[in-house]
Amino acid sequence: MTDGTIEAAGTSVLLMLNNDQRDRAAGVLLGAACGDALGVPYEFAEPLPGTAVPEMVGGGLGPYAPGEYSDDTQMQVCVAEVAATAGDLRSEEALDGIAERFLRWSLEGASDVGLQTSGVLAATARAGGLARSMREASADLHRKTGRTAGNGSLMRTGIVALPYLADPVGMAEAARLVSSLTHFDDLAGDACVLWCSGVRRAVLDATFDGVREGLDLLPAERRHHWAAWLRDAETGPPGRFSPNGFVVPALQAAWSAITHTANLSDGLVAAVRVGNDTDTVAAIAGALLGARYGLSAVPDEWRARVHGWPGLRADDLVSLARRAAEPTAGRVR
Ligand SMILES: [Mg+2]
Repeated sequence: MTDGTIEAAGTSVLLMLNNDQRDRAAGVLLGAACGDALGVPYEFAEPLPGTAVPEMVGGGLGPYAPGEYSDDTQMQVCVAEVAATAGDLRSEEALDGIAERFLRWSLEGASDVGLQTSGVLAATARAGGLARSMREASADLHRKTGRTAGNGSLMRTGIVALPYLADPVGMAEAARLVSSLTHFDDLAGDACVLWCSGVRRAVLDATFDGVREGLDLLPAERRHHWAAWLRDAETGPPGRFSPNGFVVPALQAAWSAITHTANLSDGLVAAVRVGNDTDTVAAIAGALLGARYGLSAVPDEWRARVHGWPGLRADDLVSLARRAAEPTAGRVR
């Protein structure tokens, strides 16, 4: 076997990553965290003028320290910790591990919590359960409100792709399961599947083609809607996709920022300039930009500054992402 290839032997699949692929996998969580920290100071504020360059100066709704990331990355770290240890996120045990970490985070680490996630976590805590209670609370919220397609599961989804670099179907299942812990609506799950598909192909082949390829992993009846939404984002401009609390314009804002720029830094700056939920849009964009351009594309200044709950810095985020990618890089599953 050579690096960077997939070999199937019976039912097992072994994927060895080459050095470039390892660099890109290592950039997923750090890219998200940098986007988050860059967007924090401008969340729900007046959009930045086209010439202003966002900086990791903190403040925002927290208030946050300079370089500190917010709930988007905090929750993605919860998922990453399970991905790094369990590998496969589809078992009830792994989903319980994520649910348990979300609850602990809401008590110990949450600097701010999205409205939808907050309601689901509070109901789960009252029920005293883990993944099953969380899913039930999420479904209950949907029955009551009919509105559970917020951007809060997409913002934490990029890391889900890493244990499934050799298994796109398993990746789609995991993306939807992790999303549905807090977001019952199919559109939130669809968005997570598309984004993870993008992250997966970006790590493997340094391309953004995986986002559109992810359409094949969606139920047929919703593919044409998503194809049209992606097309709208590609024709842009990114600023059209505000407000972006709903998962569709959140994905469109991130996708438009990415498709209208040519490197990681410019992509994150464009994502913040969209305005409204700036940290979330930039965190979403950052996971895919990190996957496409890699750890080595993250500016040193951002790498030095970014940090957050539970006491992590850039090297810790890189290590978590590397470990999440390991099951397919190092052992037969
Ligand atoms: Mg946030």
